[in-house]
Amino acid sequence: MTKWVYTFGDGAAEGRAGDRNLLGGKGANLAEMCSLGLPVPPGFTITTDACNWYYENGRAFPPDLEDQVGNGLEHITAIAGRKLGDPERLLLVSVRSGARASMPGMMDTVLNLGLNDVTVEALAADAGDARFAYDSYRRFIQMYSDVVLGLDHENFEEILEDEKARLGFDLDTEFSADQWRHVVKLYKQKVEEELGDPFPQAPQEQLWGAIGAVFRSWMNQRAITYRRLHDIPESWGTAVNVQAMVFGNMGESSATGVAFTRNPSTGEKALYGEFLVNAQGEDVVAGIRTPQNITERARIEAGSDKPSLQKLMPDAYQSFVSICDKLETHYRDMQDLEFTIERGKLWMLQTRSGKRTAKAAIRVAVEMAKEGLISKEEAVSRIDPASLDQLLHPTIDPNAERNVIGAGLPASPGAATGEIVFSSDEAEEMKARGRKVLLVRVETSPEDIHGMHAAEGILTTRGGMTSHAAVVARGMGKPCVSGAGSLRVDHRNGTLIAMGVTLKKGDVVTIDGGTGQVLKGAVPMLQPELSGDFATLMEWADNIRRMKVRTNAETPADARMARSFGAEGIGLCRTEHMFFEGDRIVAMREMILADTEDGRRAALAKLLPMQRSDFLELFEIMAGLPVTIRLLDPPLHEFLPKTDEEIAEVAAAMQVPPDKLRQRTEALHEFNPMLGHRGCRLAVSYPEIAEMQARAIFEAAVEAGRKTGDPVVPEVMVPLVGLKTELDFVKARIDEVAKSVITESGAPVEYLVGTMIELPRAAIRAHVIAETAEFFSFGTNDLTQTTFGISRDDATSFLEAYRKKGIIEQDPFVSIDVDGVGELVRIAAEKGRATRNGIKLGICGEHGGDPASIRFCEEVGLDYVSCSPFRVPIARLAAAQAAVRKG
Ligand code: PEP
Ligand code: MG
Repeated sequence: MTKWVYTFGDGAAEGRAGDRNLLGGKGANLAEMCSLGLPVPPGFTITTDACNWYYENGRAFPPDLEDQVGNGLEHITAIAGRKLGDPERLLLVSVRSGARASMPGMMDTVLNLGLNDVTVEALAADAGDARFAYDSYRRFIQMYSDVVLGLDHENFEEILEDEKARLGFDLDTEFSADQWRHVVKLYKQKVEEELGDPFPQAPQEQLWGAIGAVFRSWMNQRAITYRRLHDIPESWGTAVNVQAMVFGNMGESSATGVAFTRNPSTGEKALYGEFLVNAQGEDVVAGIRTPQNITERARIEAGSDKPSLQKLMPDAYQSFVSICDKLETHYRDMQDLEFTIERGKLWMLQTRSGKRTAKAAIRVAVEMAKEGLISKEEAVSRIDPASLDQLLHPTIDPNAERNVIGAGLPASPGAATGEIVFSSDEAEEMKARGRKVLLVRVETSPEDIHGMHAAEGILTTRGGMTSHAAVVARGMGKPCVSGAGSLRVDHRNGTLIAMGVTLKKGDVVTIDGGTGQVLKGAVPMLQPELSGDFATLMEWADNIRRMKVRTNAETPADARMARSFGAEGIGLCRTEHMFFEGDRIVAMREMILADTEDGRRAALAKLLPMQRSDFLELFEIMAGLPVTIRLLDPPLHEFLPKTDEEIAEVAAAMQVPPDKLRQRTEALHEFNPMLGHRGCRLAVSYPEIAEMQARAIFEAAVEAGRKTGDPVVPEVMVPLVGLKTELDFVKARIDEVAKSVITESGAPVEYLVGTMIELPRAAIRAHVIAETAEFFSFGTNDLTQTTFGISRDDATSFLEAYRKKGIIEQDPFVSIDVDGVGELVRIAAEKGRATRNGIKLGICGEHGGDPASIRFCEEVGLDYVSCSPFRVPIARLAAAQAAVRKG
């Protein structure tokens, strides 16, 4: 026989805190509290298995459930000395949902079950308060009819409003017992009128109705949506908790409240909570009356003139404080509690881990470790790495009003407010005039770098999480919302159209890169703070982790920022980003458009000193830490002039007719540039580009070494290698240049040459490639693109549908596809090591900053992860958690 029902009460329970999957969070914790000897009204929990059985069997109850529920009721009767439906010894029960994960407010609850025309009189006699009894009855009819019978609560609210108007009342509290009795009569008439049957009087019928309703509420639309948003599987089901009612509304010595053992927004170790005298739980939540503070201290801080629980009911308060301590120590975590005081006696109704802000989570974890309640490993493991975003960027004040006019992908965290502009030149101009701007584009390209630098944040209407805008914004630490498809940029009129609102250049908009929301106007923000508990936690994480954390950075500003966030080197310097600033783009275009090698070399000679000084600065900032510099990677057309004006400018610089240039531009057009002439293929066609870059790297290394006295060992990285012979070809050029620089400078030059693993072929042939490559860096953006055959720039338009339809769980460009792309990484790592013992292995795709992917990297044994500067703290923490997990 399956055990469907687990009882609890009077210092004992059949379940445990560990039975969460079977009893739900609420049921498991009620059982645990009972076992700890805390005052919990007796009751029983119907398991989540029963809920699943219910759904698997056409919404029928398991046949033996009835007997087990009967036994559960007897258990309550034995402890409480009260019985459902017995007017002599009246028992009322609550029937509440409770899933494995907390789903606040998503499912249904029925209170005061067992009331009917007879028992209401018993309750009146019991409480010595007929008004209270009839008030409870009318609440029960409304709640039960709504939840179980499907008769909307508005039907009853209408009646209540009419009655109030008729009696000239403002508040519910003005009703007398007789007036409530009349309301009850009207409510029951309404039920019969609407449903054709009278309101059920038999407590057993009421109970089974409520149990079924709670099961059914697992499948209501709210719950389904909540599960989807929080990745909660449907197969978990909900438990049902049936428990003796206690009353916080039995007069002035009764109360009900909620509390946290520590402050959930700051983390301070101070009891924090609110209560209402003479009220039921729903009144606290409903916010009709202003709740009172629990402690005197909080009351004084809040400047409230209503007495605290500490003052008003000192005995109950003292019991409550000691229970809070006991529960926090027992669970070794901050608790969120619900309690009721019935005529001076304290009852605990719920305990669970309290939800908290990122800031509070860190303070609580650090302080608990210092108190000796948890270990440092546990403190580090408790913080959601992604939540650190909340601390590293300005964020929207949670109390701020949000006027949402659109939404896209949360591409780069933080919030930004600015006047909207539609071009990068405008962004730069306005910034120069001291204005704060938000760059709004359909999508960005490398030519927008200056505008992105100038802007407070970036908003695009097209493109995914690895679109240019998203990657570059994350790198810069700028908030970005990408792919906000419901917004329309009208370039001709210079407007942004959002939900029927037309915004023009200069109008103020705020983006929330943490949620993807686009808001009208300016919104109050909270500023980041990185010292104190945050620094302590990060220090602990650094001592625990095995993998190093580097950054993807190419500008000195980004490199410095990453260092301040704790980066231990550069894992990817995308040199192409260095070619867009100032005159460089002109020299770059000259180089690309030249028809001869000599022409190209002449243009490259102009770029050499600029590259060299870029690298020198990076080496200096990184002060001896490893720096991986990647040779030019993107398809050349990304650099080409597009407008007539730009073509004329380049033509003049090259002293050729504009038409000739235009023809050359057209000749460079590719149908599929991502699979085209890019990566090491450029170095194969135009070795002089790789040679110039290698020279700039080595000369800068020599100079940095001379300046600092420490040798710099650059890591030269060749992109998009598929064949060992490609790498051999490029490496030979690099080695040649190194030799020349050594001869010319008279200084030794140490360096490594390695490759990115971005193509399935490279992964599969890694053992051969490792004969040449001295390190591998997994470029999982391209590796995901090429493994799936899904364009990283076009994926968002259909991947969301895949997610909604359950075909994929996560966007593989955000979190690594462990089974496919991950398998290739694993194969390549093993094969690489087999050929070259101890080959240095890292990851520099966007996944390097994603906690789940970092866990995978630890499993595969990579040496480091590399991510955009603002993700460095997240990666440090995630790497520590991965190490703890691996053990
Ligand atoms: C990659 O492909 O993962 C990578 C880091 O290179 P990029 O994003 O510049 O193509
Ligand atoms: Mg790549």
